[in-house]
Amino acid sequence: MVKKLKILAKRCNLQPFLQLLYRQCPEWGTPFPSLNLTSALNSVGSCFSDVILEAETNELVGWTCNFCSNSVPHSHVHKVILQSGCEYLQGLFRSGMQESHSQVIKVAISWEALIKLVQWFYSNNLPNPPAGCLWDNMDDEGKLFNLQPYVELNWLAEFWMLESIQEASWNVIVSCLDSARHLSARIIKMAYNLSLWKLVDIAANFMAPSYRQLRDSSDLEEFDEALVHLIYSASIRFAQEGGNCSR
Ligand SMILES: [Zn+2]
Repeated sequence: MVKKLKILAKRCNLQPFLQLLYRQCPEWGTPFPSLNLTSALNSVGSCFSDVILEAETNELVGWTCNFCSNSVPHSHVHKVILQSGCEYLQGLFRSGMQESHSQVIKVAISWEALIKLVQWFYSNNLPNPPAGCLWDNMDDEGKLFNLQPYVELNWLAEFWMLESIQEASWNVIVSCLDSARHLSARIIKMAYNLSLWKLVDIAANFMAPSYRQLRDSSDLEEFDEALVHLIYSASIRFAQEGGNCSR
């Protein structure tokens, strides 16, 4: 694995990473070395790609790949980097099963979520959604569009055992929902369909104070009965804890 990484790091000029691989000490007084490997995703690095991560998105208007003609949104990545950050993928690649030799791994998330996942693999950093004025001035559809990839990643992280993605995506979701609580009604349905019970709970808590309005305005009609009951229970708890559920 180290040999493969050395070739990749050399070709992509990933200096701090090369120093680490050759066990060289950084020079005194130089900035703290960053292990950002995202330049391995450029054209030079992609020549060394040995696997493709393919999103579930079927088509994306105007989307094309710089390296191949596959029109399904995908990213050319490196097994060596994926498996160093994910035990699940390490197990898959080493399993000897049919999937371990596959050139394409289909990931059941949108292209927007896949981009963030790949960024995390190569930089150990999950990109944040727009914040501040950009977020405040965004309409609801825009906010949901930005938030949904984190819900998908939170779901994937459970299967791929990516604890740091799970934590980072959770923090983003809760912070965004806290600043736009009315979006909880849309996010809770998504969380419910993905069986993300912790997220269902927190979204139900955010909806609890407006339960009566939601019920009276028939906004809950299309919700699953069990889900309505969860929101109702949250509203009871909210009232018992001193909140004011009444109109
Ligand atoms: Zn391609």
